[in-house]
Amino acid sequence: MTTHSVTLIPGDGTGPEISATVQRVLEATGVKIAWDVVEAGADIAEKTGTPLPENVLVSIRKNKVALKGPLTTPIGTGFRSVNVALRKELDLYACLRPCKSYKGVRSRYENIDLVVVRENTEDLYAGVEYEAGSMEAKEIIGWAKGKIFPDAAISIKPISRTGTERIVKFAFDYAVAHKRRKVTAVTKANIMKYTDGLFFKVAQEVARQYPGIEYEERLIDNMCMQLVQKPELYDVICLPNLYGDILSDLCAGLIGGLGIAPGANHGKEIALFEAVHGSAPKYKGMNKVNPTAVLLSGVLMLEHLGEKAAAQKLEAAIAAVIAEGKSVTYDLKPAPTDPTAVGTKEMGDAIIRKLRG
Ligand code: NAD
Repeated sequence: MTTHSVTLIPGDGTGPEISATVQRVLEATGVKIAWDVVEAGADIAEKTGTPLPENVLVSIRKNKVALKGPLTTPIGTGFRSVNVALRKELDLYACLRPCKSYKGVRSRYENIDLVVVRENTEDLYAGVEYEAGSMEAKEIIGWAKGKIFPDAAISIKPISRTGTERIVKFAFDYAVAHKRRKVTAVTKANIMKYTDGLFFKVAQEVARQYPGIEYEERLIDNMCMQLVQKPELYDVICLPNLYGDILSDLCAGLIGGLGIAPGANHGKEIALFEAVHGSAPKYKGMNKVNPTAVLLSGVLMLEHLGEKAAAQKLEAAIAAVIAEGKSVTYDLKPAPTDPTAVGTKEMGDAIIRKLRG
């Protein structure tokens, strides 16, 4: 049996307690994984001065596969997002976020089966930002000839042909490989004619190479309404970075919340798996939050590693525990204060029992 070398970043906030559970559950699938555990985020930044130590990147580049717990990003001040830095450093250009209904999860919707493909490296997340009053901000404001207040801070939104081509190809290749029928590209090209306009133009060109898959376009504001009103119309949704980030949470809401929304970040050779949710710091150390989103990210990782049978078995075990509704965390109970809710660890134990039984 193959042993897979995988980098594990436990994360911070509730990350370490989720990751410990996920590690145990993945081991219970019988798949042999040699974990290389490395630290990133707020906790290690306090000790070493950097939230993304070099050994983290070295480990991921060596193993080519990583599983990551959530990492906190300070708002307004402090270091930039380690999550964004990892995606940029490793050129993990495609963020894949399947959103699927599971029986037993309370939601206003049933039978949702959407896949969000978000561009991960460009757009307003490229990190090209200038402080109000800086030389660069003043220079750009000068170019804009009166369109921008002189005391504005500036964020740059790059959208390239290269970046768009590879993300749209990823969406279509995913659609073909997973027998999906349609790809919907989403932007605000009526307003941002050069940047979002280029995204649609390139998407149309790529779509012509995949005659078996239907292609359509939507504007982001309309798409939000459409998804709330008739999500069944959509299948694979491909978006630039910022819209993709926001729409992922909307889609997570359709299936019952962040606790069950998994994700994967793919580059040419490297893949990093992580939940859509963040570090939920208010629950840190309380053994309270739902491990399912990171576990389902683990299912995506097992598929990527070629362990399809184990991936299916694990997804079935998770689905069974959720459907029973007994050994589940507070967010999957009828009320968040339900005294029968179990902790992160205990929900993991219930999934392990299903895997073994
Ligand atoms: P969050 O996702 O951490 O939490 C929002 C709320 O959702 C929580 O208070 C909780 O009520 C609920 N929630 C989240 N995960 C849950 C789980 N597993 N089980 C049950 N309930 C859950 O979002 P936030 O509060 O906006 O962000 C907290 C920190 O996480 C921020 O620093 C943010 O930058 C970071 N973040 C990291 C990632 C990542 O690591 N990829 C993603 C998003 C946010």
